[in-house]
Amino acid sequence: MNQFEFTAVGVIESPYKQKFAIPRQPGLITEARGQLVLSPPFADDAIVRGIDSFSHLWLVFVFHETADKGWSPLVRPPRLGGNEKKGVFATRATFRPNPIGLSVVKLDGVERRGEQLVLKLSGIDLLDGTPVLDIKPYLPYADALPNAASGFADAAPQTDMTVSMSEQAIEFCRKQHALPDLQIFIEKVLKQDPRPPYKKQRQDTQSYGMNLYNFNIKWTVDGDHNHVTEIRIQQQ
Ligand code: SAM
Repeated sequence: MNQFEFTAVGVIESPYKQKFAIPRQPGLITEARGQLVLSPPFADDAIVRGIDSFSHLWLVFVFHETADKGWSPLVRPPRLGGNEKKGVFATRATFRPNPIGLSVVKLDGVERRGEQLVLKLSGIDLLDGTPVLDIKPYLPYADALPNAASGFADAAPQTDMTVSMSEQAIEFCRKQHALPDLQIFIEKVLKQDPRPPYKKQRQDTQSYGMNLYNFNIKWTVDGDHNHVTEIRIQQQ
C-alpha cells in the first residue's frame, strides 16, 4: 500500500497572489497575514476545540501551483546563489516527489464566517489558494531544537537591501485603513530582495512588479537599493 488519497481540509487566503516575492520560510515577515478557511465538513467547532491555546500551528499543505511540474533528485537552493546542487531531501524546495510543504505559522484567532471556520494566521509563506491537508499544534518541547545542525541554512536569509518609497506609494499605503501595516509589509518583502539569484550577480537596473493583496507594486533596483515607484489597484 503506497498510494494514498487526501482531501484538503481548508484553503489559504493570502496576500501573496503569485510565487514571486513570497519569503522562503514562514515567520520571516510577521506582517504577512492570511487565513485558513475551513469549509464543511471540516468547519465544525469541535474540530478546533482547544486550538486557541496554541500560539503556533504546523500546516501541511500542497504546493498546488507547481505540483504538476514534476521533481528532480537535485535542486539549486536559492540561498547558495542558485549555483550549487543539493539533494531535494536536503532542501525545502517545492519540486519534490510528493509536492507537500510544511510551515509553522502564528495563530491570531479563530472566527466563524457563516458555514466556514476561519483561522487567522500571520508570518505565512503561502500562496493564495494553497490547499491545506492537515493542521497540528506546534509543540516547543518537541519541535524547537536550538542545537540542531542546520546545514547550509544556518540563519534566516539576510540582505543589504534598503528600501524607499515614492510619495505616491506612501500615500497609497496610508489610505488602506484596513491594512495598517501595509507599508512595512511591502518594505519587508522588498528588503528580502525577491529577484532570482542570477539577477543579483550583475548590475541590474531593471524595473520590477509584484502583486500583493489586490495591489500592483512597481519598483526599481539600483545596486543594493529598491525604490517603490508606484502602487495601484490591480486591474482585473
Ligand atoms: N515552509 C515550506 C516548507 O518548508 O515546506 C515552504 C518552503 S518553500 C522553499 C517556500 C516557497 O514556496 C515560497 O517562496 C513560495 O514561492 C512557494 N510556495 C508557497 N505556496 C506555494 C504553493 N501553494 N504552490 C507552489 N509554491 C508555493
